[in-house]
Amino acid sequence: AHTVTEYDTIAAISTPIGEGAISIVRLSGEQSLTIANRIFKGKDLAQVASHTIQYGHIVDPETDEVIDEVMVSVMLAPKTFTREDVIEINCHGGLLATNRILQLLLANGARAAEPGEYTKRAFLNGRIDLTQAESVMDLIRAKTDKAMHVALNQLDGNLAHLIQNLRQEILQVLAQVEVNIDYPEYDEDELTTKMLLEKADIVDQAISELLKTAQQGKVLREGLATAIIGRPNVGKSSLLNYLLHEDKAIVTDVAGTTRDVIEEYVNINGVPLKLIDTAGIHHTEDKVEKIGVDRSRQALEAAELVLLVLNQSEALTPEDQELLTLTKAKKRIILLNKTDLPTALTKTMLQPYLHEGEQPLEISILTQLGTKALERRINALFFAGIETNQNTVMVTNARQIGLLRQAQQALNDVRQGIAAGMPVDLVQIDMTSCWDKLGEITGDSAPDELITQLFSQFCLGK
Ligand code: GDP
Ligand code: ZN
Repeated sequence: AHTVTEYDTIAAISTPIGEGAISIVRLSGEQSLTIANRIFKGKDLAQVASHTIQYGHIVDPETDEVIDEVMVSVMLAPKTFTREDVIEINCHGGLLATNRILQLLLANGARAAEPGEYTKRAFLNGRIDLTQAESVMDLIRAKTDKAMHVALNQLDGNLAHLIQNLRQEILQVLAQVEVNIDYPEYDEDELTTKMLLEKADIVDQAISELLKTAQQGKVLREGLATAIIGRPNVGKSSLLNYLLHEDKAIVTDVAGTTRDVIEEYVNINGVPLKLIDTAGIHHTEDKVEKIGVDRSRQALEAAELVLLVLNQSEALTPEDQELLTLTKAKKRIILLNKTDLPTALTKTMLQPYLHEGEQPLEISILTQLGTKALERRINALFFAGIETNQNTVMVTNARQIGLLRQAQQALNDVRQGIAAGMPVDLVQIDMTSCWDKLGEITGDSAPDELITQLFSQFCLGK
């Protein structure tokens, strides 16, 4: 580990590393102008107006070698992302030139930024709260338009406002309780506890509403782990290919792993599905695959959604029956595939294997009959009762969900304490703990280690 001086001037490449047409090297901190001036030939950056773009060249001050032709954005504090002076060098000389520019900045007084350090500074300088910082991370990773909207919305601070309002409510009641305790002549225990109970209910209700969005929020953020299962030849690969086709596929390398570990995502009307074990489903012509029950069992364990494929042109086999039983407790969609062929397996025959109200979906992947209905079904499963427009406030990550649950637990303690006739000042402690937990969500009462750990999950340059 190395020590980091908070507020020294940091530099990093803030666009994805690769052969993109333009990359941006960003500086933030008090020395941004001075350091940039040392390697920039063009106007004196210290003299130009803030929030302007300057044309010029990056030149190595040691050798006078011209490295790249650039556009430099000058943005002075406090109206910047970090609230510090920010310089962005837009270069277009490819990876090599971009790296050289970064090296020059480091040689001329800047320090290499840590992952997430720009966002961390924005937080430490009071420009954003923790939920907004997290939404920056979500934006970087957003897999569908909807996920992007939710993240943007959070970046706007809507979740933070909601949480801050709840904290305000709690603070009011705590202040009132304090008054009642301090002035025993007004002390009416019954009134005080009634007030606490009412407030606990209001806050509890609001937290429950938020938690309802948590499942959807997690799906939007991480993708819904989906397994396609079925015995050989029912049409799994065909379904996979259908899903992967038509701009739906979002193929991502898993960070920090070797190239052969690839996660495949598809975007189904705004629901990102993370397809599990697709390697087992992809075909090779010369190899007869054996994706039997064993393989399915493994995929099933990790699955949040199961697409169980059956061939309706053949009678149920013992293997089909076993898979139907295995998946019964899972969120699943049963697909009766090959409806373009004569029917041997009807919905009625399936009845004993279904749970109440379950509707298998008739489909022909070959003729694409029913495939749109499948997409609608997937969508309906996850957005039932929840509007996901741009204004939806959603809880999108495990940290926020965990803290909301703890806040709710504290409210339960308030209620139980009152029911058990505990003294008001003890009940007050639980109410305060709820207030603290909510504050951790926005970072108003978050410990330092948490903040360090949180920002270290960002990618470099953000
Ligand atoms: P898997 O073994 O479960 O992956 O099944 P495949 O996707 O490889 O499909 C097995 C065979 O069924 C292939 O010849 C497909 O073309 C065919 N098939 C898949 N879906 C349909 C369908 O809806 N109708 C018909 N008639 N054939 C299909
Ligand atoms: Zn197959």
